Amino acid sequence: METRHNGQFNVRSEPPLPHVLMITFPNQGHVNPMLRLAKRVADKGILVTFTTTSDAGHQIISLSDVVPEDDGVPVGSGRLRFEFLDINWGPSIGVNPDLDERMLHLNTAGPAAFASLIRNQLRAGRPVTYIVNNPFLPWAVNVATDLGIPCAVLWVQSCAVFSTYYQYHHCLGEFPSETNDNISVCLRGIPSMTPEEIPSFLLPSGPFKPISKAILEQFHIIDKVSKVFVNSYTELEPEVIAAISKYVHLIPVGPLVEPDNESRSTLRGDLIKPTDDCLEWLDTQAPKSVIYISIGSIVSLTKEEMAMMAHELTTSGWPFLWVVRPDCRELLPRGFLEEVKGKGMVVGWSPQNSVLNHSSVGCFLTHCGWNSTLETLTAGVPVIAYPQWGDQVTNAKFLVDIYKVGVKLKAPVERNALHAAIESVMDGPNAKAIKEHAAKWKEATKMAMAKGGSLDRNIESFVDEVKKRATSGGNGYIQV
Ligand code: UDP
Repeated sequence: METRHNGQFNVRSEPPLPHVLMITFPNQGHVNPMLRLAKRVADKGILVTFTTTSDAGHQIISLSDVVPEDDGVPVGSGRLRFEFLDINWGPSIGVNPDLDERMLHLNTAGPAAFASLIRNQLRAGRPVTYIVNNPFLPWAVNVATDLGIPCAVLWVQSCAVFSTYYQYHHCLGEFPSETNDNISVCLRGIPSMTPEEIPSFLLPSGPFKPISKAILEQFHIIDKVSKVFVNSYTELEPEVIAAISKYVHLIPVGPLVEPDNESRSTLRGDLIKPTDDCLEWLDTQAPKSVIYISIGSIVSLTKEEMAMMAHELTTSGWPFLWVVRPDCRELLPRGFLEEVKGKGMVVGWSPQNSVLNHSSVGCFLTHCGWNSTLETLTAGVPVIAYPQWGDQVTNAKFLVDIYKVGVKLKAPVERNALHAAIESVMDGPNAKAIKEHAAKWKEATKMAMAKGGSLDRNIESFVDEVKKRATSGGNGYIQV
């Protein structure tokens, strides 16, 4: 495409591709679904710019085989480019003690940095047609609204969790309070939940207050967004989606999971370098024999829990692949790695999607982050659900009670309970039924992800809307 410069603006010989700008919170569990959405939208002939904080963005780029170029990389019939906010977030892995300060910094410096990035696009001759925001950055919606650009939100957790927050914000049900913490939470479209099963950020004693504040702020301004994309699909949460759709313009675009054949795509969005060699090790193991253990990018276990886990893995007889992130490595018992040589493998980060789709993997001990939940359902792998906080506890309930693909393990882990959980999903009396349920969900998920399936159709209609808006001159900036 011929481009020549005319003062500040590029003038092109043919109209630029419609341009969608996606902004995400710099955590792995947010980057992954947003990047997957970005690829799906770009594939259909859209220019997508993916943005996040500078430090996380450069980490993603340095771990991908991608050179960030101004025009981006081709994806299907569109392009995906990277341009980062002129602010940093700090370490994205593990729980950070400075969360209050860092959220404050993001909330105060973020809006100006985002507005400046948007204006840069106009100057570069690629005005933004649509913005897609992430629920931990509610201020991005205000920036989009002030600049006259329509904005959607990608809700990166389950629809049940979205609906729970929505109903909490609008007082549509009774929730545990300081004076009454022992109630059944009964909400529209959602099976009744105990206080331990609602997202723990909603409990009076819940953790990470700055995060729950950001999430609830998103609900406060939800009317400013044109639509909410949710990383789920109708077959997975039929009643939940039907009930909340009466209140919110909700579009299921899930599961945002890498398709099996692309699972080693170069554009994976990792914030830690994965040890791809573990796939060769899995090749040497018997079918469905390996226990895969990962607790995602934020949760850490205590030294006691690590010791309990290590002891059981050493003695259980099943081979295992255990993700122990670099920030948790020193919590491993001394001598453990030598003791388990040949029986198991410990890696700092795995190519999880490929691992779960490997025929040797028999079960997944997971903290039940929503991405891990969708990935295991897509791969048909039974779970040992070991949730800690946030939406993980709700996801665990759905995995065990509704989808029936595994068993729950109560935290902090006890040795007998861990032993029993492994046996029951690997070869106990219920293992066959659990495996059948997992296989059923694998099929349902495949259908949702297939060409012409619900995910594809919903992305297609968004892309059509963006294209129409771009051709009708809808790249509107009120203030530049
Ligand atoms: N993940 C990975 N390798 C690992 C562990 C996790 O690639 O060793 C990916 C996983 O596939 C998922 C994301 O990191 O897409 C974690 O997101 P999730 O919502 O499950 O948990 P979070 O990290 O947000 O708690």
